[in-house]
Amino acid sequence: MSQRRIREARSPRAQHEAAILDELRRRGRASRGDLVTLTRLSRATVSSITGDLIRSGHIVRVEAAPTSGGVGRTPEHLTLNPTAGLVVGLDIGHRRVRGVVADAAHAIVASGERLFDPSAGWADRIERSLDLAATLLDRSTADDDAPMLAAIGVGVAGTLPTRHRIIAHVERRVGERFGVPVRTDNNARLAGLAESVWGAAQDADASAYMRLSDGIGGAIVLDRRIHHGRNGRAGEFGHLCVDPVGPRCRCGNLGCLEAFVGLRAVLAEAGAQDVRSLASMIDAGNLRAQAATDDAGTRVGLVLANVITALDLDEVVLGGELAALGDRLVRPVRRELDRHVLADEFDRVRVRLARLGDLDGALGGVALVLYDRTIALHRTATAAAMATPAPLVATTTA
Ligand SMILES: [Zn+2]
Repeated sequence: MSQRRIREARSPRAQHEAAILDELRRRGRASRGDLVTLTRLSRATVSSITGDLIRSGHIVRVEAAPTSGGVGRTPEHLTLNPTAGLVVGLDIGHRRVRGVVADAAHAIVASGERLFDPSAGWADRIERSLDLAATLLDRSTADDDAPMLAAIGVGVAGTLPTRHRIIAHVERRVGERFGVPVRTDNNARLAGLAESVWGAAQDADASAYMRLSDGIGGAIVLDRRIHHGRNGRAGEFGHLCVDPVGPRCRCGNLGCLEAFVGLRAVLAEAGAQDVRSLASMIDAGNLRAQAATDDAGTRVGLVLANVITALDLDEVVLGGELAALGDRLVRPVRRELDRHVLADEFDRVRVRLARLGDLDGALGGVALVLYDRTIALHRTATAAAMATPAPLVATTTA
């Protein structure tokens, strides 16, 4: 690379261009006004650079959804060019894998699910999961000019530090079968990330996501990034101690939250077959079902109140199978937060139900890739400067 081109790649204009492309990559779509706020660049600079990026095909204009009751023109939105690359997200659980394919403009172009044989080990599950990815990609790239696969993000069930060999196997097999970069994380954590990007916590700067299923997992998301902690265990809410002389948890400790509010424990306590029948029993006035749900919500609320106070969060999101109880579960959680979180009469911490449904973990795999700037998705200013005779950064504005 010539010295002249290195200088061009580092010019302020190139940095501003990279900042705009990065925001579009993370947000999916934004108006020019949004980009001014997000990048803190001047309106004139944003206007000039986005104009160039549209002409060069890096970004495209899309119609914005009309604002309710708004007067005047709806601002035009911009996205990365959807043909810049495809991203696959996979959520590999113990019983099934779910997958999505999304384009660079954050549109889902394919999704699906495969169940595992109950006796399948991790090697089998991983192969079935990559089969699903291949099938979804076939569906997404039927056209000759369809975008290429850029990377795969994979969520795996379980505490990550105990999953070294599984993760290594995923990375090796993705490389062998698809030849693209792979990023991995715990699947409940990825569900939390997805909720912060596209779901219930979109407008939260700092949120916690708790997935209430057989196991209790979750994520702490600060500034739309997963907080991992020193050993990649942050967000393991199921193993917070709620009673030091309580029952033994599968982790070996006593009185973990999961031992009390894991799906099986709650259903057994309530005398219900499944979550749907538990909801019906509560609505029919069954006192045992009501008490079991209230007890679970109280314990969850108390733990979340402590997490909120420690981290100063503005929102908590409840997901997983038990969250299908809706208000029946949210009510006791809300009550505990009101009792224990330090009061802020103007800005009460929000409690919301997860919005993304079964694809949440797979969507989190997509978000993991989109948020990783080291994975090439769009031609960056640097790449454009090196790849074209007339560098994008030096293009004159109209
Ligand atoms: Zn435990």
